[in-house]
Amino acid sequence: MATSQSFFPPFLLGQGYDIHRLVPGRPLMLGGVQVAHSMGSEAHSDGDVVLHALIDALLGARAKGDIGEHFPSSDAAFKEMPSRVMLARILPLVLSDGYAIANVDMTVFLERPKLSPYKQTIQSHVAALLALPVDRVSFKAKTAEKFPPVGSGDAVAASAGILLYRLTP
Ligand code: MG
Repeated sequence: MATSQSFFPPFLLGQGYDIHRLVPGRPLMLGGVQVAHSMGSEAHSDGDVVLHALIDALLGARAKGDIGEHFPSSDAAFKEMPSRVMLARILPLVLSDGYAIANVDMTVFLERPKLSPYKQTIQSHVAALLALPVDRVSFKAKTAEKFPPVGSGDAVAASAGILLYRLTP
């Protein structure tokens, strides 16, 4: 009996999750879009949980570590770095060897404010960052039904799933 698999279909699944504490006096960035709110993510970078979850999903699909390894919070060079810059830096690594993104599905967990006025903007913005058509990028928003820490308004969280496919065998 074979002990190692020699053929794999040309698909790679990735998933990512992130959560940040919400504090006064910080911008609330979601998918690279600033959302009007009295609080924002406490973070070394801009604390964009949506793009952080997406970056971890992309890295995860290629088994190339996690966001903390690529952008350590101990390194002053990454302080206040916009997450879209982090995303732009890891994309060539993930989209190497003939891999391309099939689709992305993201969910943000936030009690307030309501994100309905921002959903299409965030979807379009992330699609542009990934050079994908908007119908390949899903952005969903949920509350936490008042359960802390998200539901008490003390945190914002996000999850992301991604499918990569290989263009060349
Ligand atoms: Mg983060």
